[in-house]
Amino acid sequence: MWAHPGAAHHPHRVQLCDLGHIALARDLCAAGWTRARRERALSSGAVQRLQRGTFACAHISAPLASAASIGGALTCVSVLREHNAWAGHDHRVHVQLSPRSSAAVPSDVRAHREVARFEGNRWRVSRMQALWQVIRCLDDENALAAMESAIHTGFLAEAQVRRLGVLAPRRLHPTVRHLVVNSGSGNETIVRLRLLAAGYDVEPQGYVPGLGHQDLVVERRVALEIDSHEWHEGQQRATDADRDLVSEGLGRHVLRIRPAHIHQSWPHTLAVIDRAVRDARARR
Ligand SMILES: [Zn+2]
Ligand SMILES: [Zn+2]
Repeated sequence: MWAHPGAAHHPHRVQLCDLGHIALARDLCAAGWTRARRERALSSGAVQRLQRGTFACAHISAPLASAASIGGALTCVSVLREHNAWAGHDHRVHVQLSPRSSAAVPSDVRAHREVARFEGNRWRVSRMQALWQVIRCLDDENALAAMESAIHTGFLAEAQVRRLGVLAPRRLHPTVRHLVVNSGSGNETIVRLRLLAAGYDVEPQGYVPGLGHQDLVVERRVALEIDSHEWHEGQQRATDADRDLVSEGLGRHVLRIRPAHIHQSWPHTLAVIDRAVRDARARR
């Protein structure tokens, strides 16, 4: 890194990154930043002004910048999405604002005006608060998918997620009772819940000797592999085909379910599963 020739003689200069990448003018001032230094950082492009008196590193993410630019903290699905945990289908930036805030909320922002239940930092709520917000923001199946995905991705520990389940609004309790810790993806959780609601026995991550785990096993007869990505390519596709062949050889039919089969044509998908389970029963 290039250093100013006199740098060795300077005391340590606090960088904006050291302050958490976003700071108010008074925080910069307290950290020893002069107005001139701030102006130099702004004109060099290393620092951006998000709103009057709020400054951020140029490298922060767009959702975080958009939350801070209305004086709020990134929360809810936007925080889960940063960690690749299930966050449903709403791609607006979810921002926690003070109930007293008079900020104008842009159309691509969903504002949650409330005081945090779990402490976090000024610009991004804590992980507990984010999931707490999620389970009250999303519908039941997406809420449970987010909870299970939070465990699966390591976003929170199982005990933390279960604690939120206890605190959850009453309407969620029947759904939360189905919480498992071994769901492989949000889509898998949603399919499992819908099949349970249709009256099926569904085992997550069913184990087949010689094959390993299959995403969902319905009535111990039909396996569902939930493909999280629209396109499986190359080696993955070959591995999938190998697994399907082994499963069929063991007498267990496999259906591969893509996101579109869940979110765009579910009634048809459910009819296909009904048929596959009926056929498998008839064969025994
Ligand atoms: Zn930074
Ligand atoms: Zn939300």
